[in-house]
Amino acid sequence: QEALLEVRDLRTYFHTESGTTRSVDGVSLKIKPGEVLGIVGESGCGKSVTSFSIMGLVEAPGKIEGGEILFEDKDLTKLSKKQLKHIQGNAISMIFQEPLTSLNPLLSVGFQIAENITLHQTVDKKTAKAKSIEMLRKVGIPRPEEVYRAYPHELSGGMRQRVMIAIALSCNPKLLIADEPTTALDVTIQAQILKLMMDLRSELNTSIMIITHDLGVVAEIADRVVVMYAGQVVEEGDVFQLFQSPAHPYTLGLMNSTPKIDEWNEVLESIPGTVPVASNMPIGCRFHPRCPYAMEKCVKQEPPLAQINAGANVRCWLHEHGEVSLVEGFEQRR
Ligand code: SF4
Ligand code: MG
Repeated sequence: QEALLEVRDLRTYFHTESGTTRSVDGVSLKIKPGEVLGIVGESGCGKSVTSFSIMGLVEAPGKIEGGEILFEDKDLTKLSKKQLKHIQGNAISMIFQEPLTSLNPLLSVGFQIAENITLHQTVDKKTAKAKSIEMLRKVGIPRPEEVYRAYPHELSGGMRQRVMIAIALSCNPKLLIADEPTTALDVTIQAQILKLMMDLRSELNTSIMIITHDLGVVAEIADRVVVMYAGQVVEEGDVFQLFQSPAHPYTLGLMNSTPKIDEWNEVLESIPGTVPVASNMPIGCRFHPRCPYAMEKCVKQEPPLAQINAGANVRCWLHEHGEVSLVEGFEQRR
């Protein structure tokens, strides 16, 4: 099946006085219509900068230095601000983690949804209002007519995130980019929001790119997973395959951390060390200072992203001569 979105060799750098940070350093990925793609990694791995690049939200000192972002075969990096804005409102929507996303506190919820609808579609006010109320109902908000008139501070965090999703989906986007959409919410609400996204996907066939540090979230809703480390894709594959037999030591490290991740810091303890800063990027494999499997070659030569089996790619020398089981290997080494 054709990809709805295809990112090819994307490079987004930040130029500062202390040097160049290659936040996204040659990332390629694809999303098919109706597919849910999870992008995981620690903070600072380039997940958010990838999504910001797709949305045209990279600001100075950041710059897209190279690569293509093909959405329905149009390269978004080549479009004017105006053309990009049109695509963003209509075909691609984005939701963020609260409070980054915060709604305008001075305007009613209904006004904000209706405004988004009239901004992107030629409909009269009455239709926009009716559509807004319908969206509120669709995202599971009780008494949508009342909530339409409510102000953001009158709603709970979970309700506000539902409103954000209602806004994001009010123009029937083909792609929804969700950056840590449930991170600020408690576990029950988080489960409801994820279920809501899945329902909307089956109803509207929306493709979803979900960016998260939480592998539990990915296991729950993603079809495929891209694992990022230090600005690069280090593993990608089908969600079941990836969880059953992670091929990259970093993926295994993420999985070995507690399944219910409350604090990302806890995870960091299980993978010693931290994400390298760009000004001090290790030579060879970027993960080698933290990798329990590191070999001599890893310190000298950077591994390529290579296919290990149908649909699965990994960037690691361990699999250079065919796929090896990390889990067994790890037991042997201990
Ligand atoms: Fe570890 Fe080497 Fe694989 Fe990098 S290439 S992840 S250092 S084994
Ligand atoms: Mg982020």
